[in-house]
Amino acid sequence: MNFWLKRRDVVAQSAPLFNRLALIGAGLIGSSIARAARAQNAVREIVATAQSAATRRRVAELGLADQVVESNAAAVAGADLIIVCVPVGVCGAVAVEIGRHLSPGAIVSDVGSVKGAVVREMGPHLPNGVHFVPAHPVAGTEHSGPDAGFATLFVGRWCILTPPQGTDTAAVERLATFWSALGANVETMPPEHHDLVLAITSHLPHLIAYTIVGTADELAEVTRSEVLKFSAGGFRDFTRIAASDPIMWRDVFLANKDAVLEMLGTFNEDLSQLTRAIRRGDGEALFAHFTRTRAIRRGIVQIGQDSPAPDFGRPHPDLPVEPLPRPYAVSSDD
Ligand code: NAP
Repeated sequence: MNFWLKRRDVVAQSAPLFNRLALIGAGLIGSSIARAARAQNAVREIVATAQSAATRRRVAELGLADQVVESNAAAVAGADLIIVCVPVGVCGAVAVEIGRHLSPGAIVSDVGSVKGAVVREMGPHLPNGVHFVPAHPVAGTEHSGPDAGFATLFVGRWCILTPPQGTDTAAVERLATFWSALGANVETMPPEHHDLVLAITSHLPHLIAYTIVGTADELAEVTRSEVLKFSAGGFRDFTRIAASDPIMWRDVFLANKDAVLEMLGTFNEDLSQLTRAIRRGDGEALFAHFTRTRAIRRGIVQIGQDSPAPDFGRPHPDLPVEPLPRPYAVSSDD
């Protein structure tokens, strides 16, 4: 199974799964949901809002929603599916704003890259009779805003649902069906487990990219010449990841502090081991380590989570390349 095969498998719904989808936040993720939900006929109507008038105006210009409203409370009125697509740090405040205005039986979800904090901060403000099913589509790019979204962002990607214990299973199932309709593969797990897994697969790699690009920048004269010039190497990939939205990533590290610190501890130990191997000239240890990591990369390609094309599928004059299914992006950001 690979990207392109899964992409062809996504077929539009014959009847919408939800009547009115309210999107709170219409940046990369919110606008991609709007585009995909439309394309797949997953909802009858879309109401959207955002924090600033400028973004709301842009959402209207792009025709991403049937209605663009000025407040979060107005957006959720009469909606049977509400997806909160804002930075993790404001999810709690948004829940306070919308709580009283939710319709009984509605499903409230989000897309935050951290789940434990979102469950803790949103849950208490949502009334009984409303189903809270937090979610994280593990798909993204380093771009932000309503122009950055695209309908195929979720195709062949995971969407992880983290319903709190006791959540209505029918509501979980309905949300899973929605994400499947958008092309995602859906999995359910406890929020704490999600945060631990994503700390190593997404949060730590971003931290490393932010660090390495920052370090290179501090070596100012190198950055201005050799680093930029020769950035076709691994550095180029780090710069792309390090271009990810500063607000989103600030919130991720604050909200997933414990899991990130735990993974960082292990990472630092492993880095020390490699440092020692280099210092001692221990080629055997380096070779064994790199052989193991190469096998991991091949495993990721095998399960269809990335392109097998050389150089991450970037066009290359001398090599055969398969067409990319979407703008190339960080594989699992989020
Ligand atoms: P984004 O492009 O920056 O969009 C964020 C949106 O939230 C904007 O429309 C913003 O409005 C709106 N917003 C902020 N505060 C708000 C508030 N108090 N009330 C209403 N709207 C508000 O960010 P994104 O990349 O879509 O990320 C959104 C969420 O998705 C984050 O929680 C992130 O962790 C998660 N996520 C991101 C990725 C990724 O790769 N980017 C992947 C998976 C999950 P303005 O434009 O007016 O400020």
